[in-house]
Amino acid sequence: MAVDFSNAVRTDKGVQVAGIIMQEIIDKCEGCNRIQEFDGSKFCNTYPQPAAKWRLGDCNFATHIAREVKGKAKINPLKASKRVAKGK
Ligand code: SF4
Repeated sequence: MAVDFSNAVRTDKGVQVAGIIMQEIIDKCEGCNRIQEFDGSKFCNTYPQPAAKWRLGDCNFATHIAREVKGKAKINPLKASKRVAKGK
C-alpha cells in the first residue's frame, strides 16, 4: 500500500508520515514511479528507507529497471529422451 503523503509533516527528525520517519530516495531510485515529492524532497511511497532496499541488490519494487528472467524454458524429460532415441 502506498504511503499517503497528504498527511506528511516535517519535524526536526525529518519528514514523518503516520509516525514513521521517511528517508529520502537514493540515486538508484531515480526514474522509479514510486517516487513522491514532498516539501522539495523526494521520497519512496512504498519504503521509508529506500537505501535499505538496495543494500542487498536491486530493489524488488523498482519500476524503472529491467529484470532478467532466470532459467531456461522447461524441457519435458520424456519427450527429450524420445528425441534422443530417434536421433533428432
Ligand atoms: S520502490 Fe525501490 S527504487 Fe522505487 S523509489 Fe522505492 S526504494 Fe527506490
